Amino acid sequence: MLSKRGLKVAVLERQIQPGGSLQSYTRRGRRFDTGMHYVGGLDEGQALHELFAELNLLSLPWKRLDPEGFDRVTIGERTFLYKEGYDRFAQELAKSFPSERESLQTYVHALRDMGEKDGTDVSAWDWLHQLFNDSLLIDVLSATCLKMELRKESLPQFSFMHNQGPFIESSWRLDGPGSLIVDRLCHDIKSAGGEVFCGEEVTELLEKDDRIVAARTVSGSLYEGKCFISDTHPAVTLSWLTNSRKIKNVFRRRIFSVENSFGMFTASLVLKHGSISSFNHNKYIYSLPDVWSQHENPSRPVTAILVTNPAADQIDILTPTSFDMWQRWSETSVGHRGEDYKLLKQQIAEECMLLAECELPHLRECVECIYTSSPLTWRDYNQTPCGSAYGMRKDWRNPLMTILSPTTPISNLFLTGQNLVLHGLMGVAKTSKYTCQQVLNFK
Ligand SMILES: Cc1cc2nc3c(=O)[nH]c(=O)nc-3n(C[C@H](O)[C@H](O)[C@H](O)COP(=O)(O)OP(=O)(O)OC[C@H]3O[C@@H](n4cnc5c(N)ncnc54)[C@H](O)[C@@H]3O)c2cc1C
Repeated sequence: MLSKRGLKVAVLERQIQPGGSLQSYTRRGRRFDTGMHYVGGLDEGQALHELFAELNLLSLPWKRLDPEGFDRVTIGERTFLYKEGYDRFAQELAKSFPSERESLQTYVHALRDMGEKDGTDVSAWDWLHQLFNDSLLIDVLSATCLKMELRKESLPQFSFMHNQGPFIESSWRLDGPGSLIVDRLCHDIKSAGGEVFCGEEVTELLEKDDRIVAARTVSGSLYEGKCFISDTHPAVTLSWLTNSRKIKNVFRRRIFSVENSFGMFTASLVLKHGSISSFNHNKYIYSLPDVWSQHENPSRPVTAILVTNPAADQIDILTPTSFDMWQRWSETSVGHRGEDYKLLKQQIAEECMLLAECELPHLRECVECIYTSSPLTWRDYNQTPCGSAYGMRKDWRNPLMTILSPTTPISNLFLTGQNLVLHGLMGVAKTSKYTCQQVLNFK
């Protein structure tokens, strides 16, 4: 966005490739994704269309998920379909919950009409319970919220709605790795005269006259600039500014006092060629009802989301997990965590597999090998504290504290990324736009 407006942009990335949660990696010749499975609202007039057009991302090979059931929620023995389109979504669920027909209409109207800031100080849990009487329906509507933190006491209605509505408008995945997005953005930055430097971990921001003048990286290089934008967790950003006069303790305390959302465990299954048929939807599986309680403190897999790729030679199983479970290896680094860590990962992968087999009974026989990642993996690659999947926890009881502005006490230092307002591709893209506006105003 800034390149397109004539600014010269340099990206400093600590890893050997750019993209953070959107990067893809290769194992034994196969491509795997990290944090990109599907996005919502890409059709004309929908939540992400305009922004993705501006970012030159609409021409990527997007594949629409099945409009007759882009998400399929299984709770115990029953499966419910999420149909594309607000009215169709409500009508489909009203077949299973006829007494809630009117409330379902109210629900989809609210999703359709949500404003940019509506509901930051309203509890998602309370809202759903005021709207609906049937607890199973509440479960069904909440079950796909593996893509956010389903936590009764803190989750704002705002986060819930923004992570549901766009997907109901239309849901898409890439016919290819998530790195296609990263490659396109990097290509456009470079075409406009900018640069992307990998392996350049920022360790310090240098100040002069209360402004940042340069970023120092671990290699000792200095990168000078007029404006600096940090996409890392704000606590990491503050660690680069230990002696700043402008960053008061009250600001530091605010950033460090906000908790982080849960982490994610992923089991990526490599499947024997042709062993399963591709499915063009996501499967969310719960063995028991009361999905909110199960998400509260996930010490063991409570739900699995199953995502396949178009070639049907891979399936990702994701489940939320708390950092406590992985804490004892927190002093270790990737590849050096020991046998007991591997054993725990194997156990969790096995439990995920058992959940997945509720929907795909012969899955086990189709698996060639499994790669797993824990919150520690995320922490070590992306520098997210506690390997949090979605960054700083938003709390409807305290939106002023947990929702951050892109501006900071230092006039030419800006923040962006999932920690500010909303996570996910949509949240991060929208926040980027907001940050860019602030940068352009500053100039
Ligand atoms: C398992 C999982 C599945 C997900 N699935 C989806 C999905 O299907 N759809 C969706 O929309 N969203 C999904 N998300 C969420 C989405 O991926 C994230 O919200 C989003 O990518 C976060 O982007 P970000 O730029 O804020 O942070 P990050 O992607 O974490 O980027 C931060 C970058 O900063 C770099 N960095 C850190 N420290 C330094 C330093 N000192 N110097 C230089 N660089 C540094 C990191 O290496 C990283 O590249 C998923 C997330 C997870 C964890």
